Amino acid sequence: MKRDTNGGRRDQGAAREARSARTARARRGTGARPSSEGAARKLSDWPAPANAAGRPPPAGSLVILLADGARPDTLAAALDDGTLPALARLRADGALHTIASAFPSVTGPASAPFLMGRYPGPVGLPGIRWFDRARSAASFPHFARSYVGAELRHVDRDLDPDAPTLFELARPAIGALSMIRRGLSPRARIGAGASFALRAAATHFAGDVDGWLRIDREAGAEVARRVRRERPRVAFASLLGIDKASHAAGHDAPAVRAAMRVVDETAAEIRADAERDGRWERMHLWVVSDHGHSRVCAHEDLADLLRAWGHRTLAHPWVYHLRPPDVAVMVSGNAMAHVYLELGHRERPWWGMLRDRWEPLAEALLARDAVDLVLLPHAANRCEVRARGRGSAMVERRGAGAGTTRYAYRPLTGDPLGLGGELDADARAAYDAAWAGDYPDSLVQIAHLAGAPRSGDVILSAARDWDFRTRYEPIPHVSSHGALHREHMLVPLLLDRPPNGTPRRTVDVMPSALRALGLPVPPGLDGEAFL
Ligand SMILES: [Zn+2]
Repeated sequence: MKRDTNGGRRDQGAAREARSARTARARRGTGARPSSEGAARKLSDWPAPANAAGRPPPAGSLVILLADGARPDTLAAALDDGTLPALARLRADGALHTIASAFPSVTGPASAPFLMGRYPGPVGLPGIRWFDRARSAASFPHFARSYVGAELRHVDRDLDPDAPTLFELARPAIGALSMIRRGLSPRARIGAGASFALRAAATHFAGDVDGWLRIDREAGAEVARRVRRERPRVAFASLLGIDKASHAAGHDAPAVRAAMRVVDETAAEIRADAERDGRWERMHLWVVSDHGHSRVCAHEDLADLLRAWGHRTLAHPWVYHLRPPDVAVMVSGNAMAHVYLELGHRERPWWGMLRDRWEPLAEALLARDAVDLVLLPHAANRCEVRARGRGSAMVERRGAGAGTTRYAYRPLTGDPLGLGGELDADARAAYDAAWAGDYPDSLVQIAHLAGAPRSGDVILSAARDWDFRTRYEPIPHVSSHGALHREHMLVPLLLDRPPNGTPRRTVDVMPSALRALGLPVPPGLDGEAFL
């Protein structure tokens, strides 16, 4: 793990050097690259030829390939050794950055930033599984939501209706294998029909990694075909093979390389088509990832543990109980979990009210080898963080909006996040303070997830080499994600042109996408445009 961690830091250091070199070149007015593919290209500079139908073309188009579960260091190694020629060409034209994902670092919640520019908890997706304390979304009698399976169809309805999606703002749009689909017409949803759902379910429950690669290949080819023929303003495609192969064999396994090649082939085909018919100069092609991965040597089944401690425990897949449960365990990734207490309350009880009865549980959880961080939300904007042996601190948030929110870190008995001491910072300074440590962007991510209406009363981030589910995974996990560790939180952002701003977080991608397309950025986003 140490080698990977250092590798990630070196990669970031290299990216920063490259950035500052580009900035210096831009200041000298020489442009980042001598070729026509350089930073000097701007939307306003591009010619506006009529398209095949004779109508004026849109102000550029954007293709985003979500390489689900790709780590920045694994991707960089594959780019360096020639495995991914099309993506290496993109990097040579543009830039490869390492940025921070969102907590929980798990598919679905962590893809909300790309499509909504918002953190997952406040937008309605605190995890891939969550308990509906308010009884407003999930159904009687269990009121538990899991997007692993048939309830995936509820994602769009579970999202904040006032938060627009990229699909709604940039039309026409197509999306492939995306968990969030709001704003896509049924025809624009690739891999969303009943027959695909059955095939995906069969592939999932068979634990068939090769089957996932076949699905990726077909989805990638279909996206390329639709982009070529229909010329959507935005195309967003999730390719899932890297994540599935990583769970089964580790992030550096040959199967992961094979899955990365599918992303490369998809990018190559889209680019070749666009170059052939003159669209490439007006097209943006970005490759992103929603979370990393790291090895798992041991599983602690959190639901079984709480049952063994005498709690009637609600957990998937067995959510039906004769007597009402008193605890709900909702695992994501599988290296994070929301634990809900006193399930009869329709509103969040917060730790101040729970402490008297549940402090022994919080202490017992923190004593487990599997647990790294215990988060105890005290209010919508205040959360206690505990780490075994490293003490506790309070994380606080004030204000709302990308430019005005402030984040505070107040050590109580120690420095659990390793930030070096007390802090009161805006979003950029909070990012910088946590970047090089073990928990990149943890201050901001905890501040937004802990107080979200649907989050748990105790939130756990797993220790390295551990996760929180032993049974019911069709692919036995040798690698997991979901936690606040840098191996899970750092992701690559590959851009076909160097940006003129600094990409920091995955929430920055959506406002940047709107800028690239010449569209207005709506108020209330958590991200900042890097274009
Ligand atoms: Zn996964």
